[in-house]
Amino acid sequence: QDHQPGIERLLKPQAEHIRADYRGSGKLQGRRALITGGDSGIGRAAALHFAREGANVAILYLEENEDAQETIRLVEAEGVKGLAIEGDVSDSTVCDDAVARTVETFGGLDIVVNNAGVQYVSEDLTAITDAVWQRHMDVNINGYFYIVRAALPHLGKGSAIINTSSINAFAGNRSLVAYSTTKAAEMGFTRALALQLAEKDIRVNAVAPGPVWTPLQPASWGPVDPQAVADLGKDTPLGRIGQPSELGPAYVYLASQDASYVTGQTIHVNGGMIING
Ligand code: NAD
Repeated sequence: QDHQPGIERLLKPQAEHIRADYRGSGKLQGRRALITGGDSGIGRAAALHFAREGANVAILYLEENEDAQETIRLVEAEGVKGLAIEGDVSDSTVCDDAVARTVETFGGLDIVVNNAGVQYVSEDLTAITDAVWQRHMDVNINGYFYIVRAALPHLGKGSAIINTSSINAFAGNRSLVAYSTTKAAEMGFTRALALQLAEKDIRVNAVAPGPVWTPLQPASWGPVDPQAVADLGKDTPLGRIGQPSELGPAYVYLASQDASYVTGQTIHVNGGMIING
């Protein structure tokens, strides 16, 4: 089992989104999911794992791109329905429309994954412009709210909402003040919503990843330096950055009836990084 990919494997142009040996067992058979940011990285991993477990999967993503179409192709190869929706989660009408199209196409909605996120690096708070600060709030906080507000009228008993937060919500990050602020807000959103929706038997949980090899990592933008990638994992006890494929099973668990008594919680998938919350 390839649980400890070497750096060479991580440097492959396509990160691994689902392990070839991941065997679905119908845990999400017939369920209908909407995943924001489902075209790439962690969201794509959730999409492929959900599909292998039998769910129909809609993905909402910022701009039309080859990865989105490839994600849908891989979802449909699992014998389920896929739906690609282009749009910006910071626009509430886009979120309303994405939910409406998902419900219309699949005949309902049971699983919502808020995952689309932006991250801008700055070592100096005074260098963060109003626009950059606002963009973090608009996508990482407002987007999560808009999607859930639109989805709620359609979610029945046993439905699940999963919010992708981050280790940075707990540990902070000196270069990511705006981002860490929004990721912590997502935790408050998760906990308060879990309390409000418990009486409807709708569960709300979070996944808090540590460093994961996705296009969100600036180290992946240009020619990849193996040392820079190795450094991204140096603060984790497991000593390496994670692959998207190592996140997918956490989403399956929280979305499935295996987690029927789990709400308001956070699964930390971070190579064992020490956290304070
Ligand atoms: P990614 O860049 O691979 O994917 C994010 C996707 O979100 C993009 O492909 C894009 O389509 C979508 N997106 C961005 N802005 C959007 C918008 N305004 N409207 C609609 N879609 C939009 O990133 P990823 O690393 O897979 O990140 C997914 C989530 O995981 C984010 O919430 C991120 O904060 C979180 N996270 C990532 C890491 C990591 O190390 N990669 C660590 C902790 C948390």
